[in-house]
Amino acid sequence: MLRLVLATENKDKAKEISAILAGRLSVEILSLADFPEVKLPPEEGKTYRENAATKALTVARATGLVALGDDTGLEVEALSGAPGLYSARYAGEGATYADNRKKLLGALSGLPPEKRGARFLCTVAISWPDGRVEVVEGICPGRISERESGAGGFGYDPIFFVPECGKTFAALTPDEKNRVSHRGRAIRAAAEILKKIGSGR
Ligand code: IMP
Repeated sequence: MLRLVLATENKDKAKEISAILAGRLSVEILSLADFPEVKLPPEEGKTYRENAATKALTVARATGLVALGDDTGLEVEALSGAPGLYSARYAGEGATYADNRKKLLGALSGLPPEKRGARFLCTVAISWPDGRVEVVEGICPGRISERESGAGGFGYDPIFFVPECGKTFAALTPDEKNRVSHRGRAIRAAAEILKKIGSGR
């Protein structure tokens, strides 16, 4: 069976990735908690691709196993694509999810729904210990709601409204979110690559 290490310290992301992969392929999923000596590099890349690949490569090399890294950003049209690469620290170093949402709602204050367009972009890198890397991407279009709603999810989910569902991500069940989300799309594409490895490619 394929052994795969998730190159993330974000438990919310790890939970979603594991749920999306489960049932798609025969895989033993390990986390960084299984390798306490392995540290992720800081996110200093100029692209999502660079950040995702650096995380996956670092972990693949350190563990000798296939690793999967993800870098995600929320791009808001009215802010010319911000917070983008800086989504995790939009409200400053050490910002909480709630701090970031509050800052974003403030930045868009007074804008009507049609000017609140946004998208989530998730880049996933799979890396092998020998340095090979494959990258896939998933996008979910939506808009920033005027107030928070829904009790599920994490991060910007309570203010990310998905028109095709008529709800924010936070108001969807985990399965509903994974079906339409940026991460769901990217991880399903990654699963196709992992299936080929599983079949001895
Ligand atoms: P990074 O990929 O760790 O740089 O994550 C960027 C930030 O985007 C995270 O800290 C979250 O605040 C946010 N984020 C990432 N994925 C999601 C998601 O699926 N829903 C809501 N917010 C997310």
